[in-house]
Amino acid sequence: MQILDGIAVSAHIKSQIKQETEKLKAEKGKTPHLAAILVGHNPASEAYVGNKVRTCEELGFGSTLLRFEESVTEAQLLEEIKKLNGDNKIDGILVQLPLPEHISDNAVINAIDPGKDVDGFHPITQGKMLLGQPSFLPATPYGILLMLEHYNINTAGMHCVVIGRSNIVGTPMTVLMSRNAQPGNATVTICHSKTKDLAAITKTADIIIAAIGRPRFVTADMVKEGAIVIDVGINRIDDATRKSGSRLVGDVDYDNVAPKCSYITPVPKGVGPMTICGLMKNTLEAAKEHV
Ligand code: NAD
Repeated sequence: MQILDGIAVSAHIKSQIKQETEKLKAEKGKTPHLAAILVGHNPASEAYVGNKVRTCEELGFGSTLLRFEESVTEAQLLEEIKKLNGDNKIDGILVQLPLPEHISDNAVINAIDPGKDVDGFHPITQGKMLLGQPSFLPATPYGILLMLEHYNINTAGMHCVVIGRSNIVGTPMTVLMSRNAQPGNATVTICHSKTKDLAAITKTADIIIAAIGRPRFVTADMVKEGAIVIDVGINRIDDATRKSGSRLVGDVDYDNVAPKCSYITPVPKGVGPMTICGLMKNTLEAAKEHV
């Protein structure tokens, strides 16, 4: 069993991004710049955005963090996005989800200029991805592809079972794993909350990609010997042995599943750092387009 090490792979990719960024600055006088919008004080969202801003600094990118109270209106957010769309300094715009209930995710995402949609959530971006046209890829699926590529895992002909059908992870993952590319060329099955006898399906998988949001949901009896397991889930569970009283676990019962796998991602330090790499690669590409 080999651990797919998100920290090591992301360090490698970040050093490449850093080099390219220095070149872009020296040759074209252009500094990639990411703007992040954070609404409210959700601790997980604060942590994710903080990480993204820190990574911008590490890579030599500029960053702008726009914070709003929970009471911000949809109209105010749309106005801010309009300003960012028109600001030549800004290459990428991300809106940290979830947004408060009175604000429509779709309205906000649809307002982002697709040329600055570095999270890859805009319908034009996802439509282009579906049709195989050049586009930003949604950050988490992109990060997973980068991980598979780094370890030279040839996915052609494999049966890939994706559990979860969200617009940001599960659904785009199925598109990317089935397209005629490497990584890709897999035979893909998408499973979700209404799937009957999930274990019978996952047991036939050469690759399982779990994006469910339920702690340790994928158990050893659901996984065949030698499978590759990619765990997207980030779930906080109580843990009295920790000073904080809690810890993060994935959607996979790692301790029992890992011994059966050929490759597996841990949580944390697996897909999470790769997602940030996907976002940063998109921002660098956007900056190159904006020279
Ligand atoms: P979501 O809630 O939008 O979607 C969850 C999906 O799981 C749904 O499509 C649902 O049909 C499916 N599901 C729920 N219960 C199920 C069941 N019993 N059997 C089969 N399928 C079931 O979640 P999301 O935004 O896709 O995120 C999924 C997880 O990944 C969460 O834990 C989230 O925190 C994490 N996440 C991690 C990263 C990262 O960078 N590592 C990025 C995005 C999301």
